[in-house]
Amino acid sequence: MNILVINCGSSSLKYQLIDSDSEKVLAKGLAERIGIEGSVLTHTPAGKDKVVKEAPMEDHSVAVKLVIEALTDKENGVISSLSEIGAVGHRVVHGGEIFTKAVLIDDEVIKDIEELSSLAPLHNPANLIGIHACEKNMPGVPQVAVFDTAFHQTMPQKAYMYGIPYEYYRKYKIRRYGFHGTSHDYVSKRAAEILGKDRKDLKIIVCHLGNGASISAVKNGECVDTSMGLTPLEGLMMGTRSGDLDPAIIDFICEKEGKTVSEMNTILNKKSGVLGLSDNLSSDFRDLCDAADNGNELAAMTLDTYAYHVAKYIGAYAMAMQGVDVIAFTAGIGENSYGVRSRVAPYLKYFDTEVDDEKLKIRGEEMIVSNPGSKVTVMIVPTDEELSIARQTLELVK
Ligand code: ADP
Repeated sequence: MNILVINCGSSSLKYQLIDSDSEKVLAKGLAERIGIEGSVLTHTPAGKDKVVKEAPMEDHSVAVKLVIEALTDKENGVISSLSEIGAVGHRVVHGGEIFTKAVLIDDEVIKDIEELSSLAPLHNPANLIGIHACEKNMPGVPQVAVFDTAFHQTMPQKAYMYGIPYEYYRKYKIRRYGFHGTSHDYVSKRAAEILGKDRKDLKIIVCHLGNGASISAVKNGECVDTSMGLTPLEGLMMGTRSGDLDPAIIDFICEKEGKTVSEMNTILNKKSGVLGLSDNLSSDFRDLCDAADNGNELAAMTLDTYAYHVAKYIGAYAMAMQGVDVIAFTAGIGENSYGVRSRVAPYLKYFDTEVDDEKLKIRGEEMIVSNPGSKVTVMIVPTDEELSIARQTLELVK
């Protein structure tokens, strides 16, 4: 069966058409600037060059229509008609405490996702727009919602409660939810598979290091802790997000600089992280690594700080799980960045674990990088969130 995987943002829509039998991507693409002047669709059929089409897209429904046209196009299409799409899998960011796994979408589910929008005001409404646009253009095709938070719902209460008045949990469900769940689930499963072991028998720490970054502790197949919180701002320092900080800093800067809390929120989400710490050098780790290699001290300090934070979380989660068998690195930085991986590696010596420096230089490949005899197996496992969404969608519709 062909499954269309959709990741919808407020003005963009990413898609992949995946053949669930072969698990091959038949085509993928991106509709950008939806509802804004200059909308453009980039469609890439497998094994062919990308096709760029500029066309007005006043809303997401028009974008979905264009995606279907591209997929069924005589020249660059990969299917002959809409009837060859068996199901649609949607990435939905926030499932709150309601959704612990993927679900078939019906009116009730839509109502719940709507209600959860207060927890993810930038994401859930956009995800819903994508769902409605697909319902309109593909009537009768089953649709599935796969939640970023669902995998983390197994966390024990002691891991998800904050030390603030309990009434805020009671009234507003303020707690840790965690994100990137699809990736943490996929990578921990794949790591066990590569080792020929059952995930249920392992303690795994997954380091998802991309523009957004989070770490999770996966014990016996279940997430027991993760670094992102109520929102994706908590945890590791990221490309432009601050990650953990003393909450009193917000009031302090507001006072000194005459800023509002909402302005501070923007600063912490968009101007902080490695971009802010490097004094606006870059949020891209390639730039930071190049600069550090060329003697830029701020870039080196930023990378050292980043790696230290990653190491601290690894240490904390080893303690939380009372051990660790596998540490898996994934996402853009985890899969590729020698500069970051080589800075984290020395900390692992505390676990009687050494990694092969030459292997750390290889990019984007599944591999074990720890030396034989190491107490912990350190691995690189490229993530594939779309494939994971397609698999979960298939499970529900087959
Ligand atoms: P997201 O999906 O959260 O936008 P990605 O997982 O694509 O992010 O990761 C983006 C990050 O990965 C960027 O900071 C980029 O610099 C880094 N990255 C990608 N390729 C490389 C590379 N070859 N070397 C170092 N960093 C890389």
